[in-house]
Amino acid sequence: MQAKYIDFHTHKPSESDVLSIMNLRIWENPIKTLFSCGLHPVDIVEISLDKAFEMLREIVNSPHCVALGEAGIDKRISASVELQQKVFEQQLMLADEANLPVIIHNVRSLTEILNSLKKTGFSNPFIFHGFTGKAETARQILKAGGYLSFGKSILNHQATRETFANVAADRFFLETDEADCSIYEIYSEAASLRKINLNELRGIVFENFVGAVTRY
Ligand SMILES: [Zn+2]
Repeated sequence: MQAKYIDFHTHKPSESDVLSIMNLRIWENPIKTLFSCGLHPVDIVEISLDKAFEMLREIVNSPHCVALGEAGIDKRISASVELQQKVFEQQLMLADEANLPVIIHNVRSLTEILNSLKKTGFSNPFIFHGFTGKAETARQILKAGGYLSFGKSILNHQATRETFANVAADRFFLETDEADCSIYEIYSEAASLRKINLNELRGIVFENFVGAVTRY
């Protein structure tokens, strides 16, 4: 039997042969298919943090919530790195209590994020989503025990294509995020970059999924 396609991180509902983790903002209503929910760095200034954590605490107990996130640090936005890091660490602790993996949003903040993971002693799987970059950056994340989820940049970003072609088979996922391409296109390019067939790739990603997403 063929393993399902997995779209590890998306903002849109997907086709029936795709198992996807739909990302919800905390003020969206929980859905009846797999989803992740967290306080994205850009949302920090939109909402009272006490209220946000109260909501999030409830949401993570929903049976379809299979990951906390996206959560992380983004140096492009106006909220201070100190505040973002504090909110990120609180979410790591919440995910640990709820026994959920964390989907990480990182923009130029790898050092801070790895420090927070270490400092909180976070012990569940963590996945850097939308990974774009060189093998050296990937290596640091893998060394810390993380996974990488690759999206549309494997279609057109040379360094990321090379990183993806060589990343350990048990450490990656694929995703569409907000891109206007399909998960099928991403799988097809991914299979050709790794010089394996589509079935084999589907099996690999599915196995990684079952390993990291324990609530599935
Ligand atoms: Zn996203």
